[in-house]
Order: sequence, then C-alpha cells, then structure tokens
Amino acid sequence: MTTFSFEFFPPKTEIGKQTLWDAIRRVEPLAPDFVSVTYGAGGSSRDRTVEITKRIATETTLRPVAHLTAVGHSVAELRHIIGQYADAGVRDVLVLRGDPPGDPRGAWTPHPQGLTYAYQLVELVRSLGEFTIGVAAFPERHPRSADWESDIEHFVAKCRAGADYAITQMFFDVEDYLRLRDRVAAAGCDTPIIPEIMPATDVRQIRRFAQLSNAAFPEVLAHRLEAARDSPGEGHAIGVAHATAMAERLLAEGAPGLHYITLNRSTAALEIHRTVQSSRSIHVS
Ligand code: FAD
Repeated sequence: MTTFSFEFFPPKTEIGKQTLWDAIRRVEPLAPDFVSVTYGAGGSSRDRTVEITKRIATETTLRPVAHLTAVGHSVAELRHIIGQYADAGVRDVLVLRGDPPGDPRGAWTPHPQGLTYAYQLVELVRSLGEFTIGVAAFPERHPRSADWESDIEHFVAKCRAGADYAITQMFFDVEDYLRLRDRVAAAGCDTPIIPEIMPATDVRQIRRFAQLSNAAFPEVLAHRLEAARDSPGEGHAIGVAHATAMAERLLAEGAPGLHYITLNRSTAALEIHRTVQSSRSIHVS
C-alpha cells in the first residue's frame, strides 16, 4: 500500500491563516494518510506549528505530523514541546536537526544544553512515549556530508535510533531518489523513504527553494518555465506535468508514498494527486 500526504507551513498573517485552512479543508475529503506542518527557524512561528497541528488533530479528520527541529532549543525545551504535542493529541513527529537561523549554510552551533544531530532528537522523542517518528532523507546527499559513505552511515544510524519512515528533500530527477534508496538498502536499512513532490510552477520561486535546499534544478525545465514567465497558466501546466510524470515513475519504481509540498495552496498538489490516482486505478483495473 502506498501513502499520500501533504505539507503545510505556519502562516504569519490572518489572510495566510485563512488560505492555509482553505487548503486543509480541500485536502480533507481525500483522506490523505497524514498532513505535516513545518517548524520555523525561530520565534512565534514555532508556537503556530503547535497551535495548527493541535487544531488539525481536534477539528478535522486528518492525522497531523508536527515537524520539530533542535535549533536553539535546550533538551528541557524540546521535552516541553514534545509534551505539548502529546497533550494536543499529536503523536506523529518529523524529527529534524534544522539549519542555523539566518544563514542555512552557516556554522552549526548547538544550544549549550541542546542537541547536535537529528538522531539524538529521535532518541529523545522515542524515550518520551508512543510516537510515530519520521526523519529527513537527501537524494542529492546532505549538503554538509563530506561523502556518500558518511551520509548513508549517519542516515542509517538515525533510522536505527527509532525512525519509522523518512521523507526526502525536494528533488527533480527520479534517478537521484532511486540511487539513494539503493544505497540505503545496500547498507541493510529498510526504513521506507517517501519522496517529496514539489510542483515547480514558478521558475523564480523554485530556483530560490532549490538553492536553499541544494536541489539541482533541471535546465530544460527551467528554460521551459522561463519561456512561460508571462503566462502563469502555462507555467502551472508545465510544473504540474513534470511533477506528475515524476510521481508516476516513482510509484512505478516502488516508492512507498508521495509527500506533496503545497505552500499552503493545494491546487497544484491536488491536480497531480488526482492524475496519479486515476492513472493508477486504470492500471490496476
Ligand atoms: P542530521 O540527520 O543531524 O544530519 C545533518 C548532517 O550531520 C548530515 O551531513 C549528517 O550526515 C551529519 N551527521 C549526522 N549524524 C552525525 C554524527 N553522528 N557524526 C557526524 N556527522 C553526523 N527545517 C526546518 O527548520 N523546519 C522544518 O520543518 C523542516 N522540515 C523538513 C522536512 C523535510 C522532509 C526535509 C528533508 C528537511 C526539512 N528541514 C526543515 C530542513 C532540515 O532541518 C535541514 O535539511 C537540516 O540541515 C538537516 O537536518 P537532518 O535532520 O537531516 O540532520
């Protein structure tokens, strides 16, 4: 059985909040396996992750997954946040180390009473009760990893610390996902790795995201999107078609699910999902 899920982020404004809830209500009837809410680099957006996941747990039929990072937190604070999730009925956490605030590529400095690596946060969450735990995976290798060998070694250690599944960073070449999956399997680890699907409909936005996440953006796709720059409808169609083709190939190759980035606007993600679902039901019947 394959899963499908959607990712949202905590908005800053009242209008943003309305947009988020409209998107959440649009995906709810499809009964996804879960919806995840990202955790900010600092400040009040972090409280909003707790607030939104709590509201999803109590007011919708959806299963919320709360992202959590170790950035800027002592272990005591992390325990408190995990306790808040549990009290709110949120039993699913996507555990991340996080990046230095301000400059994601800057030097990583742990909180003096905090944690240095995600596997330590996995161990902490595991020690605090019954949680389903996800972790991050990187089809193009984590940017801070010196080589593939150490990257896979640390990823496998993070899984063995108690992760139930992993979700990948965004990527635009299916081969990168397949190579990662094969490397992890060759290391004797069978933790399911769910690919993240990012609909690339706006070339400026996607270049910025791809740069931040270190994902290589295919030039052919970039040129097509550039050519459609003055026609948002055409750009949307190009991005959705590319992501749909990736999603279909990933499932054909045995990916355990698809995690769609929505940017709090579910339109592109839903289009991709519906096309993938209908072509799968045609193949099955
Ligand atoms: P780790 O697993 O700790 O790895 C970080 C680096 O340390 C890697 O190079 C790893 O190989 C190395 N390493 C690990 N263990 C050891 C060890 N024992 N010794 C030496 N080196 C080691 N960021 C946010 O701020 N908020 C979010 O909500 C968020 N959501 C995300 C969702 C997904 C699906 C993904 C893929 C990323 C997300 N991120 C988020 C970004 C993430 O926090 C960064 O990519 C971060 O740099 C990686 O975190 P990690 O959990 O993989 O770290």
